[in-house]
Amino acid sequence: MSGAVFVGFVWLFVGIVGTLWVFIDASENSSQSAVLWGLVAFLGGILGILLYVLLGRDGGSERSRTRTEPARGTAKISHRCQSCGEKYYAPDSEISSCRNCGGIKVERLG
Ligand SMILES: [Zn+2]
Repeated sequence: MSGAVFVGFVWLFVGIVGTLWVFIDASENSSQSAVLWGLVAFLGGILGILLYVLLGRDGGSERSRTRTEPARGTAKISHRCQSCGEKYYAPDSEISSCRNCGGIKVERLG
């Protein structure tokens, strides 16, 4: 097997396996389109996969673990500061002054 054929074979193999991996991984770990990243990996080969690892893996499902605020949809904003716009997720408590700016105009929502 000559060197060029071997490199071509490896390139093809990495391309196919990498594309599959990127596609599966992106659907979980990227907030961007898995199809798009699969295409990038397929066309770019090792470079495309590298690009995905560096740029594409921005969290997705991982982000919800590190997020301090409740995930969108599970909690409603209960209060909002009219001075600075600070949001609160505390439907059971009264907020008399804003923790962010100290203002007293904290509006109760809902
Ligand atoms: Zn405020």
